Order: sequence, then structure tokens, then C-alpha cells
Amino acid sequence: MVDYYQIFENLPEEEKIAWETARRFVDDEIIPIIAEYFENYKFPIHLVKEMGELGLLGVNLPEEYGCPGLNNMAYGLVMMELERGDSGIRSFASVQSSLVMYPIFTFGSEEQKKKYLPKLAIGEMIGCFGLTEPDFGSDAGSIKTTAVDDGNHYILNGTKMWITNGSIADVAVVWAKLNGEIKGFIVEKGTPGFTTTEIKHKMSLRASVTSELHFEDCRIPKDNILPKTSGLKSALICLNQARYSIAWGSLGSAIASYEAALNYAKERIQFGKPIASFQLVQKKLVWMLTEITKAQLILAQLAKLKDAGKVKHTQISMAKMNNVSMALEIARVARDIHGANGITLDYVPIRHLLNMEAVNTYEGTYDIQTLIIGRDITGFQAFR
Ligand SMILES: Cc1cc2nc3c(=O)[nH]c(=O)nc-3n(C[C@H](O)[C@H](O)[C@H](O)COP(=O)(O)OP(=O)(O)OC[C@H]3O[C@@H](n4cnc5c(N)ncnc54)[C@H](O)[C@@H]3O)c2cc1C
Repeated sequence: MVDYYQIFENLPEEEKIAWETARRFVDDEIIPIIAEYFENYKFPIHLVKEMGELGLLGVNLPEEYGCPGLNNMAYGLVMMELERGDSGIRSFASVQSSLVMYPIFTFGSEEQKKKYLPKLAIGEMIGCFGLTEPDFGSDAGSIKTTAVDDGNHYILNGTKMWITNGSIADVAVVWAKLNGEIKGFIVEKGTPGFTTTEIKHKMSLRASVTSELHFEDCRIPKDNILPKTSGLKSALICLNQARYSIAWGSLGSAIASYEAALNYAKERIQFGKPIASFQLVQKKLVWMLTEITKAQLILAQLAKLKDAGKVKHTQISMAKMNNVSMALEIARVARDIHGANGITLDYVPIRHLLNMEAVNTYEGTYDIQTLIIGRDITGFQAFR
């Protein structure tokens, strides 16, 4: 593991075990197969239960509901390892943990928590999170999906777009306007009026299922509202959790690209010497390691702040913005160091580069995170 500043030495046993478990899972189960899954547009769904059994889902949620009950450092390290494998795997785990389990835990009733969380934790159920719509991405407050009170039911109408895990999910956390206010609802697979369509032709996150969700007079029981949700801020609180996991995940992606570039540079001979012996190549490698180290320092402090209950959402935004952008650039430079070989899936950087394009966009683009931080430091909002 790349740790130039010895930031992750002397971790408590619990964090070390979670990290090593995720690392072994990625080395044994993900890395050997992922290029083929990426190329063939498949998500390795057969690994979901194993992820659950290993405690890689809902890492920072309490044992009381069948979850591992670990801290945010452990959660981050697990996400870092999963994305060292592939962004599609980390996206699956982030959505399941931060965007499905977390909202049910935070905004759900006791019955909802008991019903869904233990099954989601062991991978017996898969979840998705539907906020984005065809016409509203960054401007999530303007979503058009509606929920109408109909006595014992709510009736949902609308379309959600770009939904990770959509077509494979047993349960969807869906955001819709009830009397003009955004609320969260739980919609189970098979509910009449709820259908999904998988989005094809993606050149990024190919080893991940991305779907549209359609709701046409979809009647769900009244008990399926997440009772403690109130307005867009509830959805944004969930996105914050997801951004935290993305900030860690993108570090894993950057490490994968850097390690590949370093190894390749030491072995590739040009002009009679390993290309790693040329100053320009060394400059690129040193730049990568420096950026990775800066990202690690940000994350180690962010985890501490989060565990102490002191973290600001703007600090999470900065980590997401910086680390994803860093991983994207590192993947590009690593691809360059691989020369022509770098455009094939035989080497990891191109896959990470393509994945990072989507990761840079989702859960709030680079520019949106910039505006969030800009508002914080200036007091002026520049969104509209
Ligand atoms: C693979 C993938 C998986 C996803 N998974 C999910 C999911 O599980 N659930 C879910 O709900 N959504 C999901 N999304 C959607 C994602 O969160 C949105 O794509 C994202 O919020 C951006 O929205 P948009 O694509 O509509 O872009 P837009 O909002 O249309 O933005 C386009 C461009 O305009 C810029 N822009 C927008 N507004 C401003 C402004 N005020 N000032 C300056 N620049 C601005 C943006 O930064 C961006 O560069 C996923 C997306 C992808 C690609």
C-alpha cells in the first residue's frame, strides 16, 4: 500500500482488519475478473453476498441492525480498497451503504430499520437511490416526481435517471414531492407501476448497473414513506455520506493507476534503459505520489472529524472535489506512461480514467462542489 507519510501505520486493530479484509477481497475476487466484466458491460452480482458476509456493506452503521458498526476510518479504508478494484464495485457499495441503508437508518421508522437494514447488510437485498431525473441533475430541488396522498397509499408518478443499481435493486429509496415538499419513499421491486430500464452505451462505469426508474400511478403503502425526511436537505445529507465514500474511493483508484505506472515504468525499456530512469517520467511519478499523499492527509483528518461528529459538509465537498479530480489526472498520466499498451484493458489506467469521468460528475460535479465551498467562504451563493 502506498503510504509515503506513514499516515496509516499503527491503526487500531478493528480498522486494520476491515482494511485487510477489503484488500484481500479485491485482490482475490475483483482484480482477476474486472477487466472482462468492464468490457462486457457486466456487474459481478455474484459477489454481493460475499461482500455482505465480509462486512463490507453498511460498514459504519450499528450492529444493532446487523451492520458491522465500525467507525468512519474503517468505512473509508474499505471504500478505498473497493475502488482500487473498480469504481463500479465501490459505487455499488456506496449506494447500498450511504444512499440506501443510511437514509433508512437516519430517516426511517423502527419497523423500516428492522425490516430492511439486516438484509441489506448481508447482501440479501440490493438497494438503489433515485433522486436525479432526466431534466434535473445538479438542480435536484426542482425534481418533478410527485407523491399524492390517496388514503392508505401514496401514488408516485415520474422518472428517475442515472440510477446506480436501479435494475438489480430489490428496494429503491425514491425522492418525490408530496404537497410541494421533497420526501423520501421506499419502493419495493415488483410494485405495480414501478419499472426500470438499464442505460446502455456507457463508456464509464461499465461494470456497474445504471438505470432509469419509471413510476406510473405506482401505489405504495403509507408506511413506506421515510417519516423523518423533510425537504431537499434530507437527500443532501445522504449525498454527503456518499461523497465521503467517493473521496476515499477515488484515492484507491489513484493508487491503482500510480502503482501500475510505477511498475510499468521500471520494466519498459526504451533507448536501452527502463523508462523510469528518465527524468520526465520520474517527474510524473513523483507528482502522482505527492498528490496521493495530499489526498491521504485530507482523508485521515476528514475521518477524524467525522468520527468526532465535527465534520462540515463543505469539508466533505472539498475532499470529493479534490480527490476525484486528482484521481482523474493521475489516471491520464498513468495511461500516458503506458504508451500504446495503456489504451488496452490489459492495463488498469484506462479503465480508471474512464470510470473517473463519471465519478467526477455524480453526487455533485466538480463545479457544484466548488460552488458549495465558494458559498461557505464568501457568503454568496453562485448557483443561480
Ligand atoms: C454513472 C452514474 C451513476 C449515477 N448514479 C446516480 C444514483 O444512483 N442516483 C441518483 O440520484 N443520481 C445518480 N447519478 C446522477 C448524478 O448525480 C448527476 O449526473 C449529477 O448530479 C449531475 O447532474 P447532470 O448529469 O444532470 O448534469 P447537469 O446538472 O446538467 O450539469 C451539466 C454541467 O453543468 C454544470 N453546472 C450545473 N449547474 C451549474 C451551476 N449552477 N453553475 C455552474 N455550473 C453548473 C455542471 O457542473 C456540469 O458540468 C449518476 C450519474 C452517473 C453518470
